Amino acid sequence: MSADAGTAGSVGTGRIVVVGSLNADLTIYCERLPQPGETVHGNGFAVNPGGKSANQAVAAGRLGGHVSLVGAVGDDPNGHMLLASVAGAGVDVGQVRTSSEPTGVAVIAVDAGGENNIIISAGANGTLSPADVAEAADVLEGAAVVSLCLEVAMPTVLAAAQAGHDAGAKVLLNLSPYAHIPAALAELVDVLLVNAHEAALFLGPGASVPGAGAHAAQWDAVRERFAERGIRQVLVTLGANGSVVLDSDAPANRSVVFVKPTKVDAVDTTGAGDAFTGAVAVRLAAGDALADAAAFASVAAALATTRKGTQAAYPETADVERRLR
Ligand code: ATP
Repeated sequence: MSADAGTAGSVGTGRIVVVGSLNADLTIYCERLPQPGETVHGNGFAVNPGGKSANQAVAAGRLGGHVSLVGAVGDDPNGHMLLASVAGAGVDVGQVRTSSEPTGVAVIAVDAGGENNIIISAGANGTLSPADVAEAADVLEGAAVVSLCLEVAMPTVLAAAQAGHDAGAKVLLNLSPYAHIPAALAELVDVLLVNAHEAALFLGPGASVPGAGAHAAQWDAVRERFAERGIRQVLVTLGANGSVVLDSDAPANRSVVFVKPTKVDAVDTTGAGDAFTGAVAVRLAAGDALADAAAFASVAAALATTRKGTQAAYPETADVERRLR
């Protein structure tokens, strides 16, 4: 890790622009998930701010990043809740448009074992368009990092990636929820963030993505497959097993770097991937090398699993620093 990683007040001035989704997470906790056609009793209900992009923005804001969010919400209580949560993390929400559609929602059922089912209704997120990206040209022009996911329409993701690329920003894409991406988008992506499942889907039939404990040569073969597809820097997250950095731009002895998991007592891993992405964005905007950014993000994401909820559980810089000492 670079000497200044995570030092309070040391985060560079590079702006992070997150373009994408805001959802209200409507979660019902139940003993077991219902089968098709079945009704089961729940034993708890919560409404929390969520959406992958809002989560990324909050994670980055809590960690001292200078963050703007480009998105859309409805003029409804869920939209107001989301704006308050995101702005509360110090994120600029001036580019979150109010839509005539309702705020996006994720209806989530979680069983006693932590397994879940999720249905997303895009609502206002579905109205976010390339025109909104054009409208946000001023913030995108000054961006050091543009962070994206696939919860908004592909043309919007493509337009944001193009704007980020044209501004000289690093373009981060979290390939979630998984969808096939056009080659034109892959060409614009500087850093792809995937879990092992998404990595396997992206690389397609015949590509085997090793599990935790695989050695560097196996991961080097995966790195090559990504590079053949035009993606030169990849972060593969492996849940409680940490992550792997695949960097085709690094010297050969640094092209595969394992990032050890941070040992924690995890109580809720929802949104850990978004915390990881937001933390990577902060450190890349501050000028860290990719492997250093991943090491910092590993601590931030692990800490995010130690509290219930998503945005409310994300750590601040001081929390990460304490753990790094
Ligand atoms: P989600 O979609 O739920 O956000 P994901 O599949 O995108 O998750 P994960 O690989 O589960 O992402 O987690 C992202 C990162 O968070 C991991 O690489 C790791 O650094 C950290 N993490 C997740 N779960 C744990 C855990 N139980 N203990 C420590 N760190 C964890």
